Amino acid sequence: MSGFENAFEKRPLTKEELEQIKKRLLERKKELLNEIADILEKEAKEEYQELIEAIREEGDIASAELQESTILALAEMRAKEIEQIDAAIERIEKGEYGICIDCGDWITPARLEVLPYALRCKECQERAEKLGEV
Ligand SMILES: [Zn+2]
Repeated sequence: MSGFENAFEKRPLTKEELEQIKKRLLERKKELLNEIADILEKEAKEEYQELIEAIREEGDIASAELQESTILALAEMRAKEIEQIDAAIERIEKGEYGICIDCGDWITPARLEVLPYALRCKECQERAEKLGEV
């Protein structure tokens, strides 16, 4: 935890905080990619040789390539997290990161630190969960 200042206030993240979160997201993505490559290597080396090489060389993955296979649920879970990371980075780049998709208010830095993929503020998330929307 980096411990952002005024972390419980609904406010936009500073440029530095965004950079920090982006860096963490990219590091996590790298970790996940390596884990996927390891899983594939262990579980399905022959079938996935090409994909393993692509991950190692290009440092990226199209998660759809994994979603067909049920034996690779573990790899798939990670691929889905990568999707969330990519979406979060896209929001950072568009300047939409940290804005609640329901009420348009800022999500607190404290929440984003723990849940960097959060799309809703705490209140809206709880409401959505009650309504069974998520
Ligand atoms: Zn909200």
